[in-house]
Amino acid sequence: MMATTHAAMGVLLATPLLWVAPEYAVPAALGALAGGVFPDLDLGVLEHRKTLHYPEHYWPLAAAAFGAAVAATAPLTVAAAFFFLSAAVHSVTDALGGGLGKRPWIEDDHRGVYSHCRDRWVRPRRWIRYDGAPEDLAAAAVLSAPGLALYGGLVRRLTLAMLAVSVVYTLARKRLPDLDPT
Ligand SMILES: [Zn+2]
Repeated sequence: MMATTHAAMGVLLATPLLWVAPEYAVPAALGALAGGVFPDLDLGVLEHRKTLHYPEHYWPLAAAAFGAAVAATAPLTVAAAFFFLSAAVHSVTDALGGGLGKRPWIEDDHRGVYSHCRDRWVRPRRWIRYDGAPEDLAAAAVLSAPGLALYGGLVRRLTLAMLAVSVVYTLARKRLPDLDPT
């Protein structure tokens, strides 16, 4: 799944705050957006879907951060809580995507996401066959609806920008391996 799909998913998770605690809805959405992208910063130099992906360990961090946000409610603590929640959801949902191969659509790789608890790779379920697949873009579009329709300002602008990036990435996805000589 694209990082932008995960980020939009994070914003969706933060959306209830618009009704529950509207004054914290924007920090929550921004925290969730950052947390949705964060695990994928291990792409490239680090080991992708392993170094910053923790399908188990982000959950206790999120629980602790939510505890802190309730005890000391402030934009920063609320943002941190949704950051960890979104990173946790990202790490788990990566297992629903494709493998890690250079051309994941040929299904030659069986690494979905790394479970640091079990010390092994979780196999990819391929509900979304690969990052940048048409169904990935469809998911990104649907998950972006709250960010576009219910938020204004920065959250809406970032959601729109991410959706634009998703469209370009999806269109270019199958040509990307040809650009990489390794
Ligand atoms: Zn990921």
